Amino acid sequence: MTIDDAPRDALRGGPRELLRWVATGAAVSRADLSRLSGLSPSTVSQRVEALISQGLLEEAGAGRSRGGRRPRQLAVPTGGAVVGAIDLGAHHARVGALDLSGRVVQARTLPVRIEDGPEAVLGALLAEVAALVDDDPAVSRGGSATGALRGVGIGIPGPVQHSTGRIVSPSRMPGWNGFDVAAFCAGRVDVPVIVDNDANLMALGAHRTAHSELDHAVYIKAGTGIGSGVISSGRLHRGAQGSAGDISHCRVVADPAPPCTCGNAGCLEAVASGAALVTALREQGVPVSDLTGVIRLIDDGDRQATALARQAGRAVGEILAVVVNFFNPQVVAIGGRLADCEPLLASMRATLYERCLPLATQTLLIERVAAGQDLGITGAAHLVIDHVVAAA
Ligand SMILES: [Zn+2]
Repeated sequence: MTIDDAPRDALRGGPRELLRWVATGAAVSRADLSRLSGLSPSTVSQRVEALISQGLLEEAGAGRSRGGRRPRQLAVPTGGAVVGAIDLGAHHARVGALDLSGRVVQARTLPVRIEDGPEAVLGALLAEVAALVDDDPAVSRGGSATGALRGVGIGIPGPVQHSTGRIVSPSRMPGWNGFDVAAFCAGRVDVPVIVDNDANLMALGAHRTAHSELDHAVYIKAGTGIGSGVISSGRLHRGAQGSAGDISHCRVVADPAPPCTCGNAGCLEAVASGAALVTALREQGVPVSDLTGVIRLIDDGDRQATALARQAGRAVGEILAVVVNFFNPQVVAIGGRLADCEPLLASMRATLYERCLPLATQTLLIERVAAGQDLGITGAAHLVIDHVVAAA
């Protein structure tokens, strides 16, 4: 029962890559895998047998023969609720049970009171995951009980030290600072639990579902808080401690510079996050209670709310321009509840083009992350699947 990074699998034809080729349909047979990886048929066979014995691949009938014995087709087992996932937000959590291909079998959204503290919140969500897995429709239909839980992935809306799974100085999460999520979960489930921040999970989920052919991508999550996840050379880039992509306390031009929860002033989070927009509107005398209210005002064309959204978009664009110049991604995509906010998106895009090197933006895709409340749990499931495959 550990929280750890899946070991490197960068070599061509590693188990994760073989599995990915089968899952995406690029390969349906051992011969395909041999051709794609450049590995000898016997090496491929060995690796495939290992994956089959771990239940990560299965033989699915016979393929078309090109003379001689018909090749056996490979598939990733689907339908079993074997991966648990929790995507914790400021007011809600999305909880799911997914199969080994990363497909959602069952999922639910639950209201959450972060201020109840980590034991109460995580305890209830882990119980919900267990209930979803037990509730696997394949099992209740009398199908095979594929539902042995392989692991649980958890996304936290704050900084997570990746090597330990400990939460470090989160904003707006009183009582959670320093909490050891891994140790807490170890006492409750006897499978690997992998913890990461919510922006990384969104990035992984979005990359695997929409951009798996692109190697370098940046995903901004703009909701109550603001963060980003970075995909470099096809892998989630966490840096030394897990804080890579955390843009929330980068300083932006703002006059006056609003104070931030970190003790500084003028941080991106204090200017452009959903929480910042709520605070700024209230200070201007607009009676708004939450982000939903802010988004409604912007949709209605409210002058003050729209001006703040434009300012937020410029701030995000400023920071993103530095990131794009430095990192040169193929795609920048914005997700989270503020991603549907047109004035914010338009000024972010304009600032980005204005401040970036032409070479960096020439072929850069600037997109909205495809809508969907399941990206976070999909990313969480892929964390677990990668871990299980690497461990196999
Ligand atoms: Zn700050």
